[in-house]
Amino acid sequence: MAGPEGGLEGLCSLYIHIPFCAGICDYCDFYSIPVTGGDPRLDAYVDALLADTEYILAAFGIGHVPTLYLGGGTPSLLGAERIGCLLTGLLSLLPNLPLEITVEANPESADEPFLAACHAGGVTRLSLGVQTFHEPSRRLVRRVGEGALLPSRLHLVREYFGAAFSADLITGLPGQDRQTLRRDLEKLLSYTPGHISLYALTVEAGTPLAAEPRVTALLPPTDEADRLWLMGRDVLEQAGYRQYEVSNFALPGRESRHNIRYWRMENWLGLGPAASGTIIDEGTGRGRRYTIAADVAAYLKAPVEDRVPRERTLFPESLRSQEGKKPLVLAEDLDRIVLMKESCLMGFRTPSGPDGRLFRRRFGRDIGECIPGTLERWRNRGLIRPDRPALTREGLLFLDPFLAECFEELAPTL
Ligand code: SF4
Repeated sequence: MAGPEGGLEGLCSLYIHIPFCAGICDYCDFYSIPVTGGDPRLDAYVDALLADTEYILAAFGIGHVPTLYLGGGTPSLLGAERIGCLLTGLLSLLPNLPLEITVEANPESADEPFLAACHAGGVTRLSLGVQTFHEPSRRLVRRVGEGALLPSRLHLVREYFGAAFSADLITGLPGQDRQTLRRDLEKLLSYTPGHISLYALTVEAGTPLAAEPRVTALLPPTDEADRLWLMGRDVLEQAGYRQYEVSNFALPGRESRHNIRYWRMENWLGLGPAASGTIIDEGTGRGRRYTIAADVAAYLKAPVEDRVPRERTLFPESLRSQEGKKPLVLAEDLDRIVLMKESCLMGFRTPSGPDGRLFRRRFGRDIGECIPGTLERWRNRGLIRPDRPALTREGLLFLDPFLAECFEELAPTL
């Protein structure tokens, strides 16, 4: 939470990006480079992250880290020893033990030593990239790892983490139909993960998949892809999972606290190439965002003070250009209108809508005063909850057109 002068009052979540994978899946548009587990850059990377963490915590005066998230890429590619070092190092640097510590893992590298090291290292939540058990779909999108490994890995994850784990599934894959998706869901549910993310495949421009017309021709048509996702949602809800964000479902109490903080637009700091951070000044409703260049080689060469934003609060000086080189940390201003839009963009993803108190504190107005026309039109269509400015279960399916109307109405309000 930022104070009147843009200070953080010491509270901030931490995201650490591990930009390494065993291979690159054709549909992926995250920043990651292919490496093997024996690559010496992995050791250097762990050392750099620990130095970054120490530096940024001091520079920003962080007194409390409610949640810590190690995502990727593939954090499990670090292996047991490195993840153990990283977790021990991080926990010795953080001012408190975070309420939630999540590590993402992929089946091919989530072996028993890795899971044991995570468990011993204080991880409270393991997130496993399942995607699909259906081997033909996996091959068509060149998903890294073999589906045949999934049952034994899920079994191990369950053994170490009980229900405190999440699994991702993708709908709308080439070669997928209702039967194969239903089988995916049934198999996954047999391990009772506490949390499931159900993503609809999108073919992002610039990904290898977008350049594979023979594979994209096998994608289910849009209507059928929508029906597949809806079927998945219904199966999960019937199994007792509650949709608490557009693509995320959880058993009671198993929601991701870290991601909830993103959707509430709370402050976070990110470390590692391609990571970003956002700090909002509660007093003015303005903020700053930084993004670290997606370049592992440059990152590993740079001194710590060039790899992370250096200034406390709104870090105006972090756009530091080093003698003829592009800076590694790019910062941008977020004015009130941008942040109001982002508060809608993130908040309306959840069935409870944007956080009303936070919105008022930041912008001095209720959300209902900022978008009265949009809310009324959508309420009349039965797509806004009667008790609060939030989309209904049905309304969540129309998030994009709803947001387009919000943005149009927000623009002239300031
Ligand atoms: S494993 Fe995940 S992060 Fe790595 S390339 Fe595949 S989808 Fe992207």
